[in-house]
Amino acid sequence: MKRTDTIIIGGGQAGLAMSRCLTDEGIDHIVLERGRVAERWRSERWDSLRLLSPKWHTRLPGFRYQGADRDGFMTMPELISYFERYARSFSAPVQDETTVLGVERADGGYLVRTDQGDWEAPNVVVATGHCDVPFVPKAAVGLSPDVHQVVPSRYKNPDQLPNGGVLVVGASASGIQLAQEIHRSGRPVTLAVGRHTRIPRRYRGRDIAWWMEASGLLAERAERSFSLESARRQPSLQLVGTPDHRTVDLGVLQDDGIRLTGRLESTDGRRVRFRDDLRHNLDAAEDKLDRLLGRIDAFVDETIMGADAPERRPPIVTTDAPSELELGDAGISTVLWATGYRRRYRWLHVPVLNIQGEIIHDAGVTPAAGFYALGLNFQRTRKSSFIDGVGDDARFVADHIAQRFHRSSIAA
Ligand SMILES: Cc1cc2nc3c(=O)[nH]c(=O)nc-3n(C[C@H](O)[C@H](O)[C@H](O)COP(=O)(O)OP(=O)(O)OC[C@H]3O[C@@H](n4cnc5c(N)ncnc54)[C@H](O)[C@@H]3O)c2cc1C
Repeated sequence: MKRTDTIIIGGGQAGLAMSRCLTDEGIDHIVLERGRVAERWRSERWDSLRLLSPKWHTRLPGFRYQGADRDGFMTMPELISYFERYARSFSAPVQDETTVLGVERADGGYLVRTDQGDWEAPNVVVATGHCDVPFVPKAAVGLSPDVHQVVPSRYKNPDQLPNGGVLVVGASASGIQLAQEIHRSGRPVTLAVGRHTRIPRRYRGRDIAWWMEASGLLAERAERSFSLESARRQPSLQLVGTPDHRTVDLGVLQDDGIRLTGRLESTDGRRVRFRDDLRHNLDAAEDKLDRLLGRIDAFVDETIMGADAPERRPPIVTTDAPSELELGDAGISTVLWATGYRRRYRWLHVPVLNIQGEIIHDAGVTPAAGFYALGLNFQRTRKSSFIDGVGDDARFVADHIAQRFHRSSIAA
């Protein structure tokens, strides 16, 4: 049995940021990672993916991008080497190739069982990722076995797909990027569009990430949101990071020749039905976009800062969306489920999960003393699950842990 003060589970950006903050506090700790540092960016992303955050927008505690291409977007190899350099910069105590199999209460703290032996500590931080396991709707079960099904974390490039057309389900960041890539490879693509967040890459002469940060939108506190639960379930932004800084929205995809439909409702063998809600979903996204850009405009007016005149792409006009498709007749051989992610904590035996299986927490602090979460969507602010946002939350959790030690040393 090995002992330390804090066990961090997961060696992605959240686990590393946490490790850096505990190092700064002088608190002994270990990062247990089942693969290698930044494992998900190594093994669960597609080949062509670039970050949708600009390079300057990848700041971590004590570390930032130092190159000349601040406004560019990192490829996966660049990002992995960025995280590796970060871990080396403060000699992060990462024990890789170590899978956590169980966490339970023990005398004075927690017992963490792994496939490389057991650990004990008074504090545990779960940093296993908001985008943990791909969510696939129940409708997938009704599809005929001869339809190939794939999720973004298993998709690498169009060449791995069987011949034929592709139905992409979900029009958030992953869905729009993969729909465009697959269509450009010469396959017909249909895109089923549910709730989504339309957003331009650039606005009034600057990258949208710059505006979202400068206007205070990204730092907006969770407790200020109208409904925290719905804020935490917001779909990812319809953004893509490319060297030409282009906007990819549903209008662009439709002009390319991608067919749009409403939300996928049900499947029966090779028959797939869609809701008649495409117009409604597009209008709702347009309203959300109005509010976002209105807020940026108000910020420009209030601060009297120099900015280009407002400009925006037109609302999306749709042609008739099919309500039903027979996949064989439509030449579709693959369904790609870009329908978001869930968290699965099968190894967690501390009573901190709600009925949906999510960790109950307030700003990452759970009801179990010394037990924390990091990297969750809207954990403390809108940017909590972003690379650039996790650092503030890690400092907050590290302070909490430091105060626990301080209190217990006074009590002793
Ligand atoms: C396709 C995609 C693109 C994204 N693009 C951006 C972007 O451009 N900008 C941005 O800011 N954010 C982006 N995000 C969001 C976010 O930054 C990522 O999800 C990021 O991976 C989250 O980092 P994390 O450290 O919280 O979790 P993860 O990166 O998921 O790290 C969790 C780690 O925990 C490990 N782990 C899990 N279970 C165990 C276990 N039982 N035992 C030991 N280790 C375990 C995993 O191997 C993994 O390394 C993107 C997300 C996705 C899915």
